Amino acid sequence: FLLLSIIAAISVVAAEAPAAQAAFNQPGEKTEVSRLMNIVINSLYKTPEIFLRELISNGSDALDKIRFQSLTDSAALESNPNLNVTIAVHKDKRIITITDTGIGMTKEDLQKNLGTIAKSGTSEFLETLSGDKADMDLIGKFGVGFYSVFLVADKVRVTSKNNNDDQYIWESTAVDDFTIAKDPAGNTLGRGTQIAIHLKEGQDQYLDDAKIQQLITKYSEFINFPIYLRRTKT
Ligand code: ADP
Ligand code: MG
Repeated sequence: FLLLSIIAAISVVAAEAPAAQAAFNQPGEKTEVSRLMNIVINSLYKTPEIFLRELISNGSDALDKIRFQSLTDSAALESNPNLNVTIAVHKDKRIITITDTGIGMTKEDLQKNLGTIAKSGTSEFLETLSGDKADMDLIGKFGVGFYSVFLVADKVRVTSKNNNDDQYIWESTAVDDFTIAKDPAGNTLGRGTQIAIHLKEGQDQYLDDAKIQQLITKYSEFINFPIYLRRTKT
């Protein structure tokens, strides 16, 4: 049932997508993404909480990258000298945000890294799995980590600022359909990436600060940067 509703959701999005929206997907890619997403959901639906592990680890990778760059380019950190991940829960809006002050993504990065699964290793990954239950470590290894956000989200907005570009917003309501636009708010991040996750119905447990705190503790063991939980009043 879950799979059917996801496929249905993807078709609806495809049917309603206005022509004005840039179509980034190549022919044939959609089926591949749907297939990959089916595998991810089949294997991970019992542990949707791993989305937080994946997003924290992406934030940590991005922080590693800017710190490394700063070794040879001392000005790289000036756009935001603090290196951390901050998580906030907005109960009223059913949104969790995960913000890192890492390297950030240019418009092109957003398109390339979050826009397609046509990355090296993906076909190999699909071959390895051949429709069977996926091993969670394999999923991490082959880099479909970000897509796990769709285990809990019905809408995802990624706002990102890299030193070499303006601030851009990537937005998606399905795993294989997205838009990218320059942020009308300008540069609000300084540098880094904010992932805003609008939770699906039935995923309300992630609106609980205590639950998020517990998951941060569980998944931050090997993270070398501070992770803050910004508590909300509502
Ligand atoms: P992986 O982390 O294994 O490469 P993911 O699906 O988790 O695979 O992420 C895909 C890519 O998207 C990353 O390799 C990175 O280039 C980019 N990315 C994801 N999250 C962030 C982030 N918070 N900051 C900068 N780049 C990111
Ligand atoms: Mg990752």
